[in-house]
Amino acid sequence: MENKIAWENIKDKKIVFRFCDEYIKYLNESKTERLCVNYTRRLAENAGFKDIDSINNLKPGMKVYKINRGKNIVLAVVGKDDIEKGFNLVAAHIDSPRLDLKQIPLYEDSNLAMLKTHYYGGIKKYQWCAIPLSLIGVVVLEDGTVIDVNIGEAESDPIFTISDLLPHLASDQMEKSLAKAFTGEDLNVVAGSIPSDCEKDKYKQTVIDILKEKYQIGEEDLISAELELVPNFNARSLGFDSSMIAGYGQDDRVCAFTAYRAIAEVDVPEKTSICFLADKEEIGSVGNTGMKSKFFENFVALLIAKQKDRYNDYMLRCAFSNSMCLSSDVTCAMDPTYKSVSEPLNSAYIGCGVAFSKFTGARGKSSTSDASAEFVAKVRKILNDANVTWQMTELGKVDQGGGGTVAQYIANLDVDTIDCGVPLLSMHAPYEISSKADVYMAYKAYKAFYAAQ
Ligand code: MN
Ligand code: MN
Repeated sequence: MENKIAWENIKDKKIVFRFCDEYIKYLNESKTERLCVNYTRRLAENAGFKDIDSINNLKPGMKVYKINRGKNIVLAVVGKDDIEKGFNLVAAHIDSPRLDLKQIPLYEDSNLAMLKTHYYGGIKKYQWCAIPLSLIGVVVLEDGTVIDVNIGEAESDPIFTISDLLPHLASDQMEKSLAKAFTGEDLNVVAGSIPSDCEKDKYKQTVIDILKEKYQIGEEDLISAELELVPNFNARSLGFDSSMIAGYGQDDRVCAFTAYRAIAEVDVPEKTSICFLADKEEIGSVGNTGMKSKFFENFVALLIAKQKDRYNDYMLRCAFSNSMCLSSDVTCAMDPTYKSVSEPLNSAYIGCGVAFSKFTGARGKSSTSDASAEFVAKVRKILNDANVTWQMTELGKVDQGGGGTVAQYIANLDVDTIDCGVPLLSMHAPYEISSKADVYMAYKAYKAFYAAQ
């Protein structure tokens, strides 16, 4: 079975390029989950979505959203059918691998102010050394005041970086395995070098003075903070033909953007359309903003209560049982330089469209939701009827490694679920690569899925 080429199924490439210009902007405005929620909310409000808390009775065609603690957003377009008859869900995640500041980050050594980090998600640590980083997030004061910090994204801002050893003195380092040459505690950020007038900790004190003056933050306030170091460089078109995108955080904001764009174009669907953009996928979908949180179930309960004026648990259980979901997450694309980790017949290829995985997991399909053949057939028909270019894949060779997504947690609710998403090169690197044709096909797939019965 030969893969189809997505570009050959696109009449007007200009439409794809314009669509991806919007996506590139989305990536650049959404380098953290909080920024992503804010930007998505702004786009959604302009497209007519309203905070569900401001609405009492839901009518078909109404567009609503709800935000969970600033880090997770869910959007819905109310269908003609009762929600108990099921909804069509596209779920993606908006957290990406990065470096978080430790709660007590600041110290000084060798005439430098430095910051300690704790990495978030699966990273190859060497990739985060000697690249420009922005510091983005919030510091919350004791009185609850939330202070937004964003240093590095404005042209006039300074940036941060992690030092790496010069090759001249790296002979010991070069002998080590990659896993041992760079440890978590080595990922220390260079943060200042002007001494203050203090006797003690004079380099550290300069940083504290700047934080006080610029943000009204004291040293202890950093304890109640979520500050993330993310790549400073912006997403760009890639290649002579500009056919691809290189950018940070495409896992999984590529599926978030395409799922959002698809739901924004839903008019009055038969079944309610839901787009869930989760936090914390990269560390196991845990916590109250992750996919395993009750927030999702609570939101569906709220939809039922506001559609029907009454609610009971059985109605909620029926809603899940009658629903279907695309768990939209990126997958591995065949890399011409690293072909040995993939099995060519069951791999995703750049430019062959949105990629489906019947299962993910590792070591004999462990820890995955394995979509039923019946559901795979149903989704296949939806895509073929809508002329979407798609491909079927597995993440790498059997026993080579593996990965997971939010799919299993949604499937556990008795929802028919399958993984699909855009294939990437350099997944989890500070600069990931996608094909514009695949991005566009993901959007087309989600649109067709929302319209399906
Ligand atoms: Mn992902
Ligand atoms: Mn990931």
